[in-house]
Amino acid sequence: MNQSTCITDLTGAQIKELVLALGAPAYRAKQLQQWVYQKLAISFDEMTNLPAPFRAKLAEQTRLHSLIQVKELTDPDRTVKTLFTLADGQTIESALMAYPGSGGHARYTVCASTQVGCAIRCAFCATGQQGFERNLTAGEIIDQVLYFARRLRDTGDAVSNIVFMGMGEPMANYDNLWQAIEMLNSPDGFGLGARHMTISTAGVIPMIERLSREKLQVGLAISLHAADDDLRNQLVPLNRKYPLKELIPAVRAYFEATGRRPSFEYILFEGINDSLPQARALVHLVQDLNCHVNIIPANNTADSRFRPPNQDTLLAFEEELKRLRLNYTMRQPRGLHIDAGCGQLRSRFLKDRR
Ligand code: SAH
Repeated sequence: MNQSTCITDLTGAQIKELVLALGAPAYRAKQLQQWVYQKLAISFDEMTNLPAPFRAKLAEQTRLHSLIQVKELTDPDRTVKTLFTLADGQTIESALMAYPGSGGHARYTVCASTQVGCAIRCAFCATGQQGFERNLTAGEIIDQVLYFARRLRDTGDAVSNIVFMGMGEPMANYDNLWQAIEMLNSPDGFGLGARHMTISTAGVIPMIERLSREKLQVGLAISLHAADDDLRNQLVPLNRKYPLKELIPAVRAYFEATGRRPSFEYILFEGINDSLPQARALVHLVQDLNCHVNIIPANNTADSRFRPPNQDTLLAFEEELKRLRLNYTMRQPRGLHIDAGCGQLRSRFLKDRR
């Protein structure tokens, strides 16, 4: 272990090894984990039930965090968007979204990144335009959640959901993502139910199959955006590798293996995928899957080809879905005033720095 070892990069078993290597008894591992994941400690000094010499060794050889907050914007809709730097100087962004909940208590969803940049290069996505730098470690994924959990604790609130829908393709970083999910779910870790976590993917079929074999009930969302291969090839280049005729059966197989209802995201782009025949094609494609479709008007990015449709087009598209009895929700885009779309804050940061 060296000083660059971040506690949140360690699995439960590795934390035990660390504790033993530092000459402390095994039960200290659980206490350490409680400080990190439940009491959300920001320093080893706080861990007052650990002996001071042990704390000193921990502080010498490890660190507690991997993220430094560099910028934060709050939208009038209460969406918070945060830009972080990582130990190697790379930057990522995460978001916190508040939704009305029962009993006056808001529910909070963390939108976490899984990679620095993204290799999929979806035409409409700000992160896609940045190219790919590297995978995030498990600790870098976890720390985004802990950061917002700490913020919320100050007002007596808590993280209720995590969606892996920030920068990057989660399924292209499966091992680290899964390590993070296990710790976020573990009763000795962050303790959030797996059903409160959702992985969003552009459609990496082998990893959808892998997810369907996992015991944890983590949700799956597919970024669809087009119901025919020609258009989807253009919007989501990964479609050339994993076309709809293979993706849809893979999603069906996932449902049959897990009993968990998948969801689809369909972003509406003006003049691209917002016509009535396209609404019908969408319904036709997914209607016999036991699924839910989220329709989301696009967030504007620097690329002016991708705009949200006007209100009339939106309503007509929605009417058609209703008429055909699709199980869908029309979502409000969030954080429109703060460039909260995927990768937008980092794009601006990179541009300013040049
Ligand atoms: N790579 C994964 C997860 C990250 S993207 C995936 O593709 O699902 C998270 C979601 O943001 C995806 O549905 C993506 O298509 C969407 N998104 C990207 N750019 C957007 C934009 N300009 N407006 C609206 N949604 C966008």
